[in-house]
Amino acid sequence: MPYLVRDGLFIGNIGDAAEILQNGSSEITHILSLLSSASISFFTEWRSSISIPAKEIRKVFVGGSGSGSGSEDDAVDSSKKAIAPNKLLCSLEYAGKDLKMVRMAVPLRDMESENLLDYLDVCLDYIDESRKEGSILVHCFAGVSRSAAIITAYLMKTEQLSQEDALESLRQSCEFVCPNDGFLEQLKMFEEMGFKVDPASPIYKRFRLKVLGELYNRGEKIDSSKFGADPGVPLEVVSSEVAESPNGEAKSTLAYRCKKCRRVVALKDNVVSHIPGEGETSFEWQKRRSGNPFNKFDEHECSSIFVEPLRWMTIVEEGGMEGKLSCAHCEARLGYFNWSGIQCSCGSWITPAFQIHKSRVDISTV
Ligand SMILES: [Zn+2]
Ligand SMILES: [Zn+2]
Repeated sequence: MPYLVRDGLFIGNIGDAAEILQNGSSEITHILSLLSSASISFFTEWRSSISIPAKEIRKVFVGGSGSGSGSEDDAVDSSKKAIAPNKLLCSLEYAGKDLKMVRMAVPLRDMESENLLDYLDVCLDYIDESRKEGSILVHCFAGVSRSAAIITAYLMKTEQLSQEDALESLRQSCEFVCPNDGFLEQLKMFEEMGFKVDPASPIYKRFRLKVLGELYNRGEKIDSSKFGADPGVPLEVVSSEVAESPNGEAKSTLAYRCKKCRRVVALKDNVVSHIPGEGETSFEWQKRRSGNPFNKFDEHECSSIFVEPLRWMTIVEEGGMEGKLSCAHCEARLGYFNWSGIQCSCGSWITPAFQIHKSRVDISTV
């Protein structure tokens, strides 16, 4: 039986979802399924084997843009920002007896390295909409980790609770919930970003870089589709990015140019910042900086900037662990990359690292 968490919000396992799809429910009108791609297929086969109808409404593309669910256009837009994600895809359908149920299936594995953050917007919006129209069951396979992580995020956002308080509150309804450690860490980032997924935040940028580093370590091919757009190529980013800056700020116009040929090699938005002199696990960048009366930036001047991988870094696609980064126009040496990390002159380790020496670039506005 599903557990009631809030009015119109239930948590459950795959058996609960199967039961509702098969027999209907007097209460639940919406389902959010968080399952591995394999389980989603298996579930679909099971459903058709006992002739439970389903009809696709649409596919929902999820990007790293923070704009949540949306059309294919949104996904194209988001691919230009931050580190372009693998295209994330959810499906929305009518299901169950008489096709009365609305169901969204989100491919998500219960693994610590799984990217939960990028699914939060679409899942939380869907829960919100569903509760306006009726009641929703959020389920995964066991009803312990994935569904609990999503509902914890939902409670955090809607009730402005810390990750710990939200999880504790969920445990009041369902005592055995236990999101995996990687999800808990991402929920903490969600809290630090102010209950939203903000692609401009250093916390988010470091997270995306970490995700990419894990893909590399797992031996997956890293191609330029996962890289940020090349700011040196006109039209691709510069004009639209500035016009569409979500904060309406003009900060994205700051650019780093190759000293030798003046080609733009990175925008300020591409920089993944770190706290000078501190370890690479510092996700609490903003908090510490504002809470620290001593400005460490004066003490240790970093001699490099670290950026997300950008499409002009074609050498990275060759698959090596490390290599030189050279200007795409004049081939002047700009810096290095190393998937296992590089130590900045300030002492901080950046992992993975895409480093540009400040002495090789000038800062100007675009
Ligand atoms: Zn540094
Ligand atoms: Zn150059």
